[in-house]
Amino acid sequence: MNEHDSERMAGILEAQGFIPAASADDAEMVILNTCSIRDKAEQKFYSELGRLAHLKSRSGKEVTIAVAGCIAQQEGEKLLSRTPSVDMVIGPSDIARLSAMIEKNRNSGTPVVETDGDPEYHQRLVPASRSDGLKAWVSIMYGCDNFCTYCVVPYLRGRERSRPPRDIIAEARGLGEQGYREVTLLGQNVNSYGKGLEDDCTFPELLRMMQDVDGIERIRFVTSHPRDLSDALIGAIRDLAKVCESIHLPVQSGADRVLALMNRRYTSAEYLDTVRKLRNAVPDMAITTDIIVGFPGETADDFACTMQLLQEVEYDNIFAFKYSQRPHTKALGLPGHLAEEVKEERLAQVLELQKGISLRKNEQHIGSVQEVLVEGASKKGGMLTGRTRGNKAANFIGPAHLRGSFVDVRITTAGPNSLSGELCE
Ligand code: SAM
Ligand code: SF4
Repeated sequence: MNEHDSERMAGILEAQGFIPAASADDAEMVILNTCSIRDKAEQKFYSELGRLAHLKSRSGKEVTIAVAGCIAQQEGEKLLSRTPSVDMVIGPSDIARLSAMIEKNRNSGTPVVETDGDPEYHQRLVPASRSDGLKAWVSIMYGCDNFCTYCVVPYLRGRERSRPPRDIIAEARGLGEQGYREVTLLGQNVNSYGKGLEDDCTFPELLRMMQDVDGIERIRFVTSHPRDLSDALIGAIRDLAKVCESIHLPVQSGADRVLALMNRRYTSAEYLDTVRKLRNAVPDMAITTDIIVGFPGETADDFACTMQLLQEVEYDNIFAFKYSQRPHTKALGLPGHLAEEVKEERLAQVLELQKGISLRKNEQHIGSVQEVLVEGASKKGGMLTGRTRGNKAANFIGPAHLRGSFVDVRITTAGPNSLSGELCE
């Protein structure tokens, strides 16, 4: 989502005549688009900001430093006193105001802060500068209403707002005309798309409209909240040829007690039931998830439930994180915060377990023929790379001109992170 916000800011800048610099050191303006989902992301930002501030004061160059994203929203004006080199602070829902802010900063020579949140942002047509040419992100909604107790997103990105379907479809058509082949629809909880729209439209209905967009051959979406994964959505994934057989379905924990403390509003049994329904409808569905280890009060037994759930579901891949204390959130006030070493130990255990599962899942593809959208040269020398419909990286030998085409690849070997194979005739 942040990367796509960066594309939007780049789109606004390019419309104003800016061109990309080779590096931050050569730039006239640098925007640090920040994430504050975990403390580690925040620390990375402060060290990069320190480096840029040093560069600015040492060289005496007229470089404008802007801070965007969730840390900008979280810290607002405070960033200016903390780091006097900062010229602009822009919240994630204020991106459309970027041009006006630049002008104001240039004219006044004083810092500009915009973090109020533009109430019309979800209805604005903000240009995006995309460089991939094949795969594009398209936001369908902003914000989140779920208030999971560990998560800072609802406080920084505001309440859930859906973009009108006509704007989404028009953007997708434009992408199809430009030669894009794949679109990933973005939202914190795409399953609840449509709340508050003038004309009723649910997420499965939006997918049906997307199916008719010429040129776009693959449709993906992130993220789905398990509680809102309806039968209608499962039906749409099954029936719509362009909707890929892969879903990111964050579970966070396998322990009901922890899920309740997290305010996830499902039990592990309900989650497993959803997974079963998905696999019954779409047998080769690839499923990935997010896991938080070391949530306040997580006991050894609770953690064992998470390990058990991983074994039961057999995810294709997982993203696992140590619980990180975040401002504003309810979990901060819960008893039983765990020591860093305990979290690290548990993280290592889930990653080790999943490594074996991912390898086994990938090995199941050996001998099968997978449709691959060719993205270009692989990091493995002399090979091409692309993604299967299940969103797995697949490497194979073939001519460079295949970039952008769909090819069939017979899978011959598999590792935990990718597949390799041979191009079919
Ligand atoms: N909206 C999505 C959802 O419901 O799963 C994803 C939101 S968040 C940007 C991505 C992931 O970060 C979450 O699924 C969660 O696993 C993780 N996360 C969020 N807050 C966290 C925290 N305080 N500590 C550790 N991980 C966190
Ligand atoms: Fe955060 Fe929960 Fe919303 Fe996802 S659904 S963004 S984890 S509050």
